[in-house]
Amino acid sequence: MTDPTPATGAPVLVVVDHHGDEPRSSAYELLTVARALGPIEAAWVGSVPEAAVERLGAWGVGRVHELPAAADLLPPERGTALGAVVEAVGASTVLLASTFENKETAARLALATGAGLMVDSSAVEPGPDGVVAVQQAFAATWTLRARTTTSRAVVALKPNAVQAVAPETGPARPQVVTHDVAAPATAAARLVERTPRPASDRPDLGEAQVVVVGGRGTEGDFTPVEDLADALGGAVGATRVATDEGWIGHEAQIGQTGVTISPRLYIGAGVSGAVHHRGGMQSSGTIVAVNSDPESPIFEIADFGVVGDLFTVLPQAAAEIRRIKQG
Ligand SMILES: Cc1cc2nc3c(=O)[nH]c(=O)nc-3n(C[C@H](O)[C@H](O)[C@H](O)COP(=O)(O)OP(=O)(O)OC[C@H]3O[C@@H](n4cnc5c(N)ncnc54)[C@H](O)[C@@H]3O)c2cc1C
Repeated sequence: MTDPTPATGAPVLVVVDHHGDEPRSSAYELLTVARALGPIEAAWVGSVPEAAVERLGAWGVGRVHELPAAADLLPPERGTALGAVVEAVGASTVLLASTFENKETAARLALATGAGLMVDSSAVEPGPDGVVAVQQAFAATWTLRARTTTSRAVVALKPNAVQAVAPETGPARPQVVTHDVAAPATAAARLVERTPRPASDRPDLGEAQVVVVGGRGTEGDFTPVEDLADALGGAVGATRVATDEGWIGHEAQIGQTGVTISPRLYIGAGVSGAVHHRGGMQSSGTIVAVNSDPESPIFEIADFGVVGDLFTVLPQAAAEIRRIKQG
């Protein structure tokens, strides 16, 4: 693939989400998109490690802006801090992964820099009058193309919406610029403690390419859901019924009042597909439903449906996937 020619000379600032020292997969997706929009600069909240600087250079980043003190800021103040970097760089476009926290950061960042804001995008393209964000609506039955009326745009792109592709150009070590930002005295709230979630071998729910979701139909036994997720290298999610029952932690809840996901593959087992749940998963690439009731509403949005008992279907699917992988 030939790297497209940047649309404008103004820099694009990519906010790099990271897990410890490692950029998250969503960061590489943003860097892929950014190549078509302009010269790339990256913002790293925290102190950027040398290995990450080199990795970002290999992905086409010209300069890395680290914000060591911003790591302890809450999303709104982080947005203000990033706004100072945007102004210093003169960026015309800012790209972030469209996660719950980042959308809060993006709103404040847009406010601080007089930019227009577009979130939950599934694609970002150069246009004659600035970047165009593509969004899916109403269970992905409508596609919207939007652009800001301001000259600067802040765009949040859903994880997994585009394929990350490394550039053809050789790696170059980016310059690192340190920005001293501290919590503003007017901050309404401060971070007082941070407790990392217990480590898991499964991918992060918001970024996973495959998510297997259990609902009331599991009756509290998530073993087949977890087993299929592990066979596919995916994450485990749940409906609100399952989290309210205490069958799994609330951080696994997908939907209007939970996490929004857009994996390449969503598998719902014993999930009816209520509107509140759909709100958090309807833009998934391929939707597979396993439900014993053929009239269940989830079949209306499923690309592939299995009418059957999840306790029979899921173990068979997991065994077959493992057999194929080994073979
Ligand atoms: C304000 C508000 C916000 C909400 N926010 C959310 C949210 O963020 N996320 C969310 O998920 N919900 C949310 N809800 C709840 C939502 O409306 C539904 O009640 C919930 O999603 C249903 O969960 P479920 O599909 O697990 O259960 P049910 O609707 O009871 O469906 C269970 C399904 O399992 C099937 N089943 C049963 N046994 C088996 C079996 N052995 N094998 C296969 N299939 C089987 C049944 O046929 C049925 O279709 C919200 C509700 C409100 C009012």
